[in-house]
Amino acid sequence: MRTGATWTALRTATGALLPRGRRLPEDVWRRRHRVLLVLATTQGLCLLPLGLALGHPVARVLLLVAVVLLPLPVALPHRWSRAATSAAATASLFAASAVLVDLTGGLIEAHFHFFVVVGLVALYQDWVPFGVGLGIVVLHHGVLGTLVPHSVYAHHDAMTHPWRWTLLHAGFILAASCAHLASWRLNEQQGLQDPLTGLANRIQVGEVLRRTLTDDAPAAVVLLDLDGFKAVNDVRGNAVGDEVLRTTARRLRAVARAGDRVARLDGDTFAVVLTGGHGESASRAAERFLAAVRGPLTAGGQELAVRASAGVADSATLGAGESTGDGTERLLHHADLALQEAKALGGDRAVTYAQAMGRAAAHRAQLLEDLQGVVGRGELEVHYQATVELDGGGTEGFEALLRWHHPVLGTVPPLEFVPLAESSGHVVEIGTWVLRTAAQQAAQWSRRCGRPVTIGVNLSAVQLAGDEVVDVVAAALRESGLPARQLTLEITESLLVHDFVGTAARLEKLRALGVRIAIDDFGTGYSSLSYLRRLPVDIVKVDRSFVGDLTGGGSATTLVASIVELARSLGLDVIAEGVETEQQAGTLRALNCALAQGYLYARPVSAAQVALAGAERSSEHSAEGTAVTH
Ligand code: C2E
Ligand code: CA
Ligand code: CA
Repeated sequence: MRTGATWTALRTATGALLPRGRRLPEDVWRRRHRVLLVLATTQGLCLLPLGLALGHPVARVLLLVAVVLLPLPVALPHRWSRAATSAAATASLFAASAVLVDLTGGLIEAHFHFFVVVGLVALYQDWVPFGVGLGIVVLHHGVLGTLVPHSVYAHHDAMTHPWRWTLLHAGFILAASCAHLASWRLNEQQGLQDPLTGLANRIQVGEVLRRTLTDDAPAAVVLLDLDGFKAVNDVRGNAVGDEVLRTTARRLRAVARAGDRVARLDGDTFAVVLTGGHGESASRAAERFLAAVRGPLTAGGQELAVRASAGVADSATLGAGESTGDGTERLLHHADLALQEAKALGGDRAVTYAQAMGRAAAHRAQLLEDLQGVVGRGELEVHYQATVELDGGGTEGFEALLRWHHPVLGTVPPLEFVPLAESSGHVVEIGTWVLRTAAQQAAQWSRRCGRPVTIGVNLSAVQLAGDEVVDVVAAALRESGLPARQLTLEITESLLVHDFVGTAARLEKLRALGVRIAIDDFGTGYSSLSYLRRLPVDIVKVDRSFVGDLTGGGSATTLVASIVELARSLGLDVIAEGVETEQQAGTLRALNCALAQGYLYARPVSAAQVALAGAERSSEHSAEGTAVTH
């Protein structure tokens, strides 16, 4: 028991200097070994002329030189393990030390050579060479000193107490090796660790992966990237951003298993390398990491909710012949493609790499490139979908929905390009254009049919991240002459989570202009009802997934009923999205939901098509769009 404890303590102490798996990267090690090998050989050969010059018999000198060169064949690179190879080179270097002392007839200064060698073999950054040094001291001063008592540099004490001398020398070697390894660890921390979080960095990730793949062992990479982190950094400042990164690092480390390597690659991108398999699939591990990252976090005195996306790649998806070298790069690239896919799907999820993603990524890259200047080229169009009164069927207003007519790819759906425009920042320019176009259109319709037509415009989180949005909205109202109360800005819940206080303040300013605020896709995010009470909101749009489930009755019905109830108690309007069947409409009416939007009533269509229907039915009260189906 006690030896067990001592052993553990020893392991911990040495582990602090040389933790497992923290070995020198292979190519660095080989480079250093080659230098030491050349030195050992040169040194051995130089002893020959030196011995002869000092007048020693040729046979004796040849014998001693042979002893020095003897271990070197074992030290030839790539044949044996690192331990054997480095031990052989070290033995040769130390043997040269002993021979030098012998040839110089016990010259004290010749002895210093030994410590030069200690410094040299420290380049291996391993305990083995120091162990060899210790072994030589024990053999030379201890064992040999006991068998054939000899003085050490005229210290006759060494004759009577050989082990005392052994201890003295061994102590120096131990101290020297600890000093070398400690300084290496310090350097390593600077070079291989991320200074902000203390996690491993990209170099280490590459090394661990390369080693695992070379051993033909299974490996997987989970790349994690925080959702909307740029906005946190921009709005809250770098200090808060750093705090978020540190907390994320702590959370990831806390749930990583022994053997997993957690790293920060750059910015808000983290990686976990899974090796050896834990009987848990990489995608399940990724879900675990996402769950750990999620959850409220207090930074800069305010509560933030952090979300992340993850891309997973498993070495099993690498083709044959890709298991070495660039296999590492490919695996990281696959994980990156999967991560991009997770982001494109809206974030807060894990996606596992599949072959097709290479093509999907190329497609996205093309779209991203073409988004540049899209407004100026006139490829964008706003379509309009009517919002109707569930009771009378009359049109209450419209929602503006963006369309991109790509010259080569045809019509690109907003779910495909809006996330790209958000991540690249293009969404600010595009969103401003949508606002101006839609406001103008609504003003024109209002004038034409002599009653106020309301318009809902979707605002992206990126647009709402800065204060300029207030000026942009005010300008759109001014230019178009649209009364503010006819404009509704639709925002999604996820937005509130990132920067609740900032968003709430901006929403207040917008509302002060007179516009109305709608929470879009309500029920799908994390926000929940508690946010509603604290926010300047006028309308709740029940997400289409709940409306779709209404047909079966059950929990969706209960949920929609409680949303309608809550909205009523807070004095908010409710719009049910995605109504496709009469049955859904009937259930919604029974639940006292007043407004709806969906293919049952109207699909989103161009302004021309809306106006056309309006003109044809100009005398009727139920205005534009409701009759238009596509
Ligand atoms: P959203 O704001 O939730 O818009 C409603 C989406 O549901 C629209 O898809 C609409 O065509 C679709 N929809 C309406 N009724 C039905 C129905 O009965 N059944 C089904 N299955 N779908 C229905 P769309 O036009 O593809 O837009 C998708 C999303 O893209 C929008 O979701 C919105 O988040 C975003 N988006 C669209 N235009 C803009 C924009 O100008 N700016 C921003 N930031 N986002 C936009
Ligand atoms: Ca919307
Ligand atoms: Ca919606």
